[in-house]
Amino acid sequence: MRSPIPDYLQEVLQNCSADTSGHVADYIPELARADPDRRALAVATVDGSTYGSGDDEHQFTIQSISKPFIYALAIDDIGLQAVLEAVGVEPSGEAFNELSLEGGTGRPLNPMINAGAIAAHQLLNAESKDTEHKDSEHRGTADRRPTAPEHPARTDEVQRRTDRVLTGLSACAGRDLSIDYEAAESEYRDAYRNLAIAHMLRTHEVITNEPVEAVRGYIDQCAVLVTVRDIALMAATLANNGVQPCTGERVVSAKASRQALSVMTTCGMYDASGAWLARIGIPAKSGVSGGIIGVLPGQVGIASFSPRLDAAGNSVQGVEMFERLSQDMGLHLMSNEQPSNTAVRGIRTITEEGTSTSRIRLQGTIRFSGAERVLRSVVAASESGQLEDRIRLDLSRVESVSETGVRMLGELIRRLEEAGYGVAVDDPEGVCPHR
Ligand code: GLU
Repeated sequence: MRSPIPDYLQEVLQNCSADTSGHVADYIPELARADPDRRALAVATVDGSTYGSGDDEHQFTIQSISKPFIYALAIDDIGLQAVLEAVGVEPSGEAFNELSLEGGTGRPLNPMINAGAIAAHQLLNAESKDTEHKDSEHRGTADRRPTAPEHPARTDEVQRRTDRVLTGLSACAGRDLSIDYEAAESEYRDAYRNLAIAHMLRTHEVITNEPVEAVRGYIDQCAVLVTVRDIALMAATLANNGVQPCTGERVVSAKASRQALSVMTTCGMYDASGAWLARIGIPAKSGVSGGIIGVLPGQVGIASFSPRLDAAGNSVQGVEMFERLSQDMGLHLMSNEQPSNTAVRGIRTITEEGTSTSRIRLQGTIRFSGAERVLRSVVAASESGQLEDRIRLDLSRVESVSETGVRMLGELIRRLEEAGYGVAVDDPEGVCPHR
């Protein structure tokens, strides 16, 4: 039997093909030559299943979709505080390539606009060469990578940063990625605006390298070749707290992953970020080559590709595909489709060999709200004299307990014991380890 998911993706792809408005980006000559009719859609789950449809093996340059990943890598390289001192987290309300910095601090407003992305790229630790990288498998692949064409701005330091970019993005995709140096060259030749941004950053000492070097590195970053399946897996890595779902490698820390996702949520879709969040409700990032990634934390990474862009710079058909998926599959972050969690299955008195015990049976997934219900029910039972002196907390039907849940249940047990109850816990699966 065939899974219905690829058929469903195919259907979405087909149903979103009518609108041929919009234009391929033409300010980068290589992008102007893109076939506007190529289209693809892919989904990758946090446990590593990938589904693709359409031109899902077609490679295109990643462009701005690289930004959240490089931001996360920079956070792991130099720490969140140092990154925040250099780049803000506020939506800019201006074009992605605007020459603007935050009044007062002189920081770029956020890492999803070019000013912030060029700065974030420069924050990557240029000393963390592949040869020092902890993963020997990736060290090996770095040696086999095609060498970059000679260019005066591709200094050793720039090259080391590019290696860090390639190693990091490859680890997120779960395969070795490479750079389309022709596309990079075609963008670099006319990169006057990004150069202007880099000069502005240098003037304000947000970056310390030469502007040409910063732009060289940033443009090479944007020219990494990916398929829609690659970027779905990269999105799934963020959905999975920074751990690549197929290889199991921790690529970025959970903290960096969460920070990148938060900024994507408010700033990822250029000037249409607010409308996107309200309509589609999936943290996302798009790029001028026509890709979009969407991340549903704990669930899936989604990616679309279609090069015709709307006035805001987002793929026309990509936006439509995401809207369809969000509606059909109930993926909007702000709509809660989960049935309300009744964490307490029941509290009963059991008498065995003349001894009575209160058996409190819990169930499902216990996070803050579930644990609050447990606390509320147990406190009420205790106040109404319904609890025996011996209590058995039965967790055998509990699927998982969040860290907060563990702390709250631990505190409940502590207080019950303090009040003189004898508490035993049945936790055959070890879901509440640190009680
Ligand atoms: N390399 C492109 C630029 O800096 C990326 C822009 C984008 O995808 O938004 O202009």
